[in-house]
Amino acid sequence: MTDPKIPTVQIIAIGTELVLGRIQDTNSFWLSQQLTELGAEVQRITVLPDTLEEVVPVLQGAADDGANFVVVTGGLGPTPDDLTVEAFARLLGEGTYQERGLLEDYMRRRQIGEDELSPGLRKMATVPESAVVWASPAGWAPCIQVSKAETTFFILPGPPREMEALFDRYVATAISDSLEIKSAARRLFVNMSESEISPLIEEAMQQYPGLYAKGYVALRTDTHMPVDFVARAASDREARTMLSGAIDQFSAGVKALGKDIHY
Ligand code: ATP
Repeated sequence: MTDPKIPTVQIIAIGTELVLGRIQDTNSFWLSQQLTELGAEVQRITVLPDTLEEVVPVLQGAADDGANFVVVTGGLGPTPDDLTVEAFARLLGEGTYQERGLLEDYMRRRQIGEDELSPGLRKMATVPESAVVWASPAGWAPCIQVSKAETTFFILPGPPREMEALFDRYVATAISDSLEIKSAARRLFVNMSESEISPLIEEAMQQYPGLYAKGYVALRTDTHMPVDFVARAASDREARTMLSGAIDQFSAGVKALGKDIHY
């Protein structure tokens, strides 16, 4: 059930090491938290190897789905297996070029002349023709923005520190600027089983459209289970009001069953 006012986002993590189970895809986990906190709806997370055959159709699929935004990580490095830019060039039916601002940034930061730019640096400055590009505060690979139909793609490097710095500086702002919706979230702890909390959660979600609530059985301790509440509304104030109303209703239900809750 998608509210048209809530921007939809897909996350695509690219890296053969991820699908081989050599590196855990922590980027998507972190991004999904950030995007949800911003008030966007994460529709899907996909993890793909560095092959054009896998990557290009999935990028096309995200545009066909009409996702408002797609955040892509990985495969922007200097080595031949890094082909994310090539995948986007194919998706867009465009060529690529070496972006002048990035080359100048590299020369300035490395204190080198144009003829000293390595093939690796030149590759990392190579972007699709229609791209908008932002230099990284934390590494060499940039944030690249392109559009296809209604969908805006943000392409970020794989290393988590670089990805997070670029997301915070450019992507979060672009997405929150597009938001008509604000969100507020809170985690509570209850000494109840999943079957005991489900009816209370359902009641809260029925009473407050725009509320998402879930208990995390896997994160249960000996005594307590965490329950997350995420409220989305047209303003911060409405989101906070919805959140506190839903939590009050849920707490009253917990106490009526003689159970305890802490915040
Ligand atoms: P680089 O310039 O480092 O090559 P890149 O954009 O090409 O940047 P990758 O080569 O795909 O990024 O990944 C570099 C490293 O970043 C990986 O070896 C891994 O340690 C880390 N990394 C990549 N993707 C992820 C991810 N989804 N989650 C966590 N770490 C990741």
